[in-house]
Amino acid sequence: MRIYADCAATTKMRHSAIEAYREAAETVFGNASSLYSEGQRAADTLFSCRKRIANILNCRPDEIYFTAGGSEADNQAIASAVRAGAGKGKRKIIASAIEHHAVLHPLQRLRREGYEVVFLPVSTEGIVSVDDFVRETDDSVALVSVMTANNEIGTLQPVEEIGRLCRQRGVLFHTDAVQAVGHIPVSTKDCDYLAASAHKFGGPKGTGILFARKGAPLFPLVEGGAQERNKRAGTEDVPAIAATAAALEEAVSGMEEKNRKILSMRERLIDGLLSSLPHSALNGSREKRLAGNANLCFEGCEGEALILYLDDLGIAVSSGSACTSGSLDPSHVLLAIGRVHEIAHGSLRFSLDEHNTEEEIDRLIKVVPEVVNKVRSMSPVWRDLNAGKRKFIL
Ligand SMILES: *Cc1c(COP(=O)(O)O)cnc(C)c1O
Repeated sequence: MRIYADCAATTKMRHSAIEAYREAAETVFGNASSLYSEGQRAADTLFSCRKRIANILNCRPDEIYFTAGGSEADNQAIASAVRAGAGKGKRKIIASAIEHHAVLHPLQRLRREGYEVVFLPVSTEGIVSVDDFVRETDDSVALVSVMTANNEIGTLQPVEEIGRLCRQRGVLFHTDAVQAVGHIPVSTKDCDYLAASAHKFGGPKGTGILFARKGAPLFPLVEGGAQERNKRAGTEDVPAIAATAAALEEAVSGMEEKNRKILSMRERLIDGLLSSLPHSALNGSREKRLAGNANLCFEGCEGEALILYLDDLGIAVSSGSACTSGSLDPSHVLLAIGRVHEIAHGSLRFSLDEHNTEEEIDRLIKVVPEVVNKVRSMSPVWRDLNAGKRKFIL
């Protein structure tokens, strides 16, 4: 039996979502733009899904736009706010230093194009400071973008407060809530844009949700049709959208209860690993984080080696973010919380959801230390540390 502990990378589709997909694919295959009955049935399904999702996100159905994923939703929010700002001579953008690449990379490109982009630091706990935002925010700011929950270390950001401050100052605020929607209560109340992604809460890959407040600037990234009220061309994937609505409804039902169970598994995992592995540490605040996230550093280890050995033993986890693995750059998030390169390289992210079990935690607590010790025993760095030729950092 394999243990899947990488729910922040993606989740398995829920049965309710697969069932909704199958049913919509069979019964509402029409093009939602067509005038005849098949098309109208698809349009009706689309509208009802929009309403169900808006209901959960606490907004109007016509503030919900379906995209082809969380990355696209992030990109569209940023591009729209920046384009509107440029028209008014506002060329400054503020974001946290720990944003997902779907926010980070567009902002880095905008900086190369001459925009003033300020990445605000986070504390060693992995949380941005509201005061920093207040200090940086002035009339030239086109957009503030702060994620609701970090994808690597799970830390929760003070987005409600930052959103409120932005609103008071008339500055557009975007939050990448991809890790939060379906996992913790999320409200669109204090933001202009919010991005979510179906495959992070048991829906299909390739379906994203962009909330854009009525009146907030919104320009299409994909042009060529009037779909999504002219803001996102392309025939809507009605079955995937039906699956998304079903997945989100299941994800938020009994959320508090599920989170209590997930949190208790996570706490046991963190305690179990930290107590049996010296020179290791938790990354990010222990309290202000998603219930399912445990991200730890093990000194004298390469995260990639750990992942491969654990995979052989039937365990799927990631080091840092799935998007960074494959490159040897250490995670920008771990560097932002003050981890030095060699420590940042030895990190593992466990991300649990309600489908994980106590038995799996037992096995992780037993197997992970064995693997860490094995990798350490082969590491020249670990040998030097123990021989006193280098100083332990953790
Ligand atoms: C996964 C993720 C994304 C990207 O979503 P996709 O649907 O995979 O494009 C963006 N932001 C965060 C925080 C994520 O975890």
